[in-house]
Amino acid sequence: MFSWTPRALPGLVVLSGVLALARSVLRARPDRYRDRILAVRLVADPLVVGLIGTRSPGRASAAARGWVALAVVAATMASVGPACAQSDALVLRTSRLLDGTGAVLTERDVIVRDGRIVEIVPAGRETIGMEVVDLRGLTVMPGMIDTHVHVGWHFDADGRLARGGDAEVRVLRAAENAYAMLAAGFTTVQSLGGPEDGPLRDAIARGVLPGPRILTSLGSVSASTGGPASLRAAVRGFAERGADVIKIFGSESIRTGGAPTLSQAQLEAACGEAATHGLRSVVHAHGDESAARASLAGCTTIEHGALLGRETLELLAERGTYYDPNIHLIFQNYFDNEARYLGIGAYTAEGFAQMRAAVPRALEAFRIALGVPGLKTVFGTDAVAGAHGRNAEELVYRVRTGGQTPHDAIVSATSLAAESLGLGSEVGRIARGYTADIIAVAGDPLDEIEALMDVRFVMKGGRVVR
Ligand SMILES: [Zn+2]
Repeated sequence: MFSWTPRALPGLVVLSGVLALARSVLRARPDRYRDRILAVRLVADPLVVGLIGTRSPGRASAAARGWVALAVVAATMASVGPACAQSDALVLRTSRLLDGTGAVLTERDVIVRDGRIVEIVPAGRETIGMEVVDLRGLTVMPGMIDTHVHVGWHFDADGRLARGGDAEVRVLRAAENAYAMLAAGFTTVQSLGGPEDGPLRDAIARGVLPGPRILTSLGSVSASTGGPASLRAAVRGFAERGADVIKIFGSESIRTGGAPTLSQAQLEAACGEAATHGLRSVVHAHGDESAARASLAGCTTIEHGALLGRETLELLAERGTYYDPNIHLIFQNYFDNEARYLGIGAYTAEGFAQMRAAVPRALEAFRIALGVPGLKTVFGTDAVAGAHGRNAEELVYRVRTGGQTPHDAIVSATSLAAESLGLGSEVGRIARGYTADIIAVAGDPLDEIEALMDVRFVMKGGRVVR
């Protein structure tokens, strides 16, 4: 009851070609071209339908034309739909791939479906007919992980460090910081942390805001919280409010010598209570005594540790305590933004002088740590206002000035960081079954670590974000 006319065919071929091209563009860059492909569909679909109708007069009944129209629209919708939902398989074609544990793979296709890495195969095989994102010429690696940021810290409209302020503004500024880090290739961050982190974490997890996966402490406990019973109660409160980790201040600031502020019993109470809720505990500890106490108390990670000596670092290695030194970005960012901080709270001229004096101390502790066998040194920056999106500068410094190998630096910010966050079987690696958090950088970071600051492609949970 319906037949094609020869004159209709060229038009259909051209139009289906346009649709196919637009479709592949959309799948490669869904963020940029969604509106344009929808416009193409709006124009192309009626054209195809109209063409069929006018080119076969008398041969196609109204009913047949209706069915064909429906089929064309349905086919087009089906072809665009999966790109929006990204439930179809997507192939990342790579020429050079770092898996996050130290392996370097060449000429591989990474097949991503439903947000996960389902297969890694030799390039070009088994992927016929799938949508391909060509990342050849770049270095593909797992999305980076920063285990210590403060996502909510920001400068206010006056350009100065925000002190309190409206909750509405705070959470939006935090969202801006989150996006800056994601765009810089950081697909997971741990924020240690304020109450605004919680709603932001949840919104990003729902997929309504672009940002890295956020783990947050929602706040912290310290000597002012009180004795062991009070610390346990406070930790329980954070657990009930949905904290992912417990942040504990176990020592003074480096500006005042880093002496311990919590007793062994207090640390055991805080870290022990965290463990009973299945939570990790991270301890701000600059000096040997506070870090050793935290390690003996079974706390998960020592943050900063700028004054640690070999003996303490060996204790951490022996007990499997992670060490998260923050040796560059935290200082450099303060120095770059001194006028924005100076005069607020503890940011006095004297405080800045002490921070300048701390730089070589922190570097020395890091260099000692590199020589301690078995020590699990993870990547964290302590990024505050002004530093979000600059996180990779710390990796460059660790390699160029600290003397870490690029290989170890990259592992510390991928698989080892993931392990320290309890996400070792979920993110931080490009391997079958892992979440598809994948970035591509220009050049070879194993050769020039600065490549980590030139991020060209970001996928988080199987969605192309950049
Ligand atoms: Zn911090």
